[in-house]
Amino acid sequence: MAKESASVRIEHLKKVYPGIDGKPVEAVKEVDLHIEPGQFITLLGPSGCGKTTILRMVAGFEIPTAGDIYIGDTRVNSLTPDKRDTAMVFQSYALFPHLNLFDNVAYGLKIKKLPKAEIKQKVDSIMAMVGLEGFGNRAPNQLSGGQQQRVALARALVMEPSVLLFDEPLSNLDAKLRVYMRNEIHKIQRKVGITSIYVTHDQSEAMSLSDRVIIMNSGHVEQIGTPLEVYTTPASEFVADFIGIANILPCKVTENTGRNVTIDVLGVPCTKKAEGSRLQPGGEVKIVARPESLSLGRTGDIPCKVVSSIFMGESQDYVVNACGKDLKVKVYNPLIHETYHEGEDIFLSLQKDSLHMIPKKD
Ligand code: ADP
Ligand code: MG
Repeated sequence: MAKESASVRIEHLKKVYPGIDGKPVEAVKEVDLHIEPGQFITLLGPSGCGKTTILRMVAGFEIPTAGDIYIGDTRVNSLTPDKRDTAMVFQSYALFPHLNLFDNVAYGLKIKKLPKAEIKQKVDSIMAMVGLEGFGNRAPNQLSGGQQQRVALARALVMEPSVLLFDEPLSNLDAKLRVYMRNEIHKIQRKVGITSIYVTHDQSEAMSLSDRVIIMNSGHVEQIGTPLEVYTTPASEFVADFIGIANILPCKVTENTGRNVTIDVLGVPCTKKAEGSRLQPGGEVKIVARPESLSLGRTGDIPCKVVSSIFMGESQDYVVNACGKDLKVKVYNPLIHETYHEGEDIFLSLQKDSLHMIPKKD
């Protein structure tokens, strides 16, 4: 693609909707984001947390209540959507049912009054890129959901925008196709190198597509990080719980040397690096233990009882009770491990390096 992709900078962005019953809805509270040119970032969070509102403010479909949006060096707050050089891919595809695929993809270029030959060349090349070569004469209703979503993607890409916006584009597809299409989107975005903001409530989509994930919770950003960072070092209980499965254990601090803190995790002392931490012995912290960082055996750190044991194919999923708490444990590749059954008394062991202490908010 000929065009350079652009950075996107969002500063102190807020959106308050009037609301139907006269009670204002604070949809976006105070959001700051800086996206480098060519980066793929995801806004991830539960329904209603303000993801779509942010995307629509970047596109120009909603006016911010406060704050600034820059695309490249241009402050775009006062620009209409058509002047912003963004293109959006919607969940609903939003194809024109009366136009064939070629005309659907060519629509924006025709409005721009590009010469016919140039339109044909651009449309043909984009259709080939999204795997729809030769489909130009078909009507949208002659296509599967996945194919329609490709057309929607082609229609956005053909405009050569500097920023591509996606609002839950795969939500209407079945599970297998969703995985296939997200890999396609990933490949195409890498090839084209276009700055992309992708909205989803699906954590595996966010993890597999993104350079950075922005986790949102009721209008504010909880954490920004690479998929690895948000999974292994969640900044809050909300993030730990939203990304993957987490056992969250309230634990007592037993020692603080100024460099390291020792915590009692289910009776087992665990030492974590915590330079300059003000945690006092006796104070409480929350520890995140992922199900795959716990292991089970006939011997081990902590006695426990098996509450449930379910064969999932790639894993055996347990709930065990240790020190009065129910904990989720996942054992991958179960056929090469001993399986424990409901009611058995066994032992739980901790992989201490994988435990994460949730930072205390001051
Ligand atoms: P998400 O995309 O994360 O599901 P939205 O950005 O669509 O969330 O919505 C954020 C909040 O703003 C929700 O509480 C929603 O009900 C509210 N909201 C969205 N659009 C409007 C609107 N046009 N008028 C009033 N409230 C709105
Ligand atoms: Mg939404």
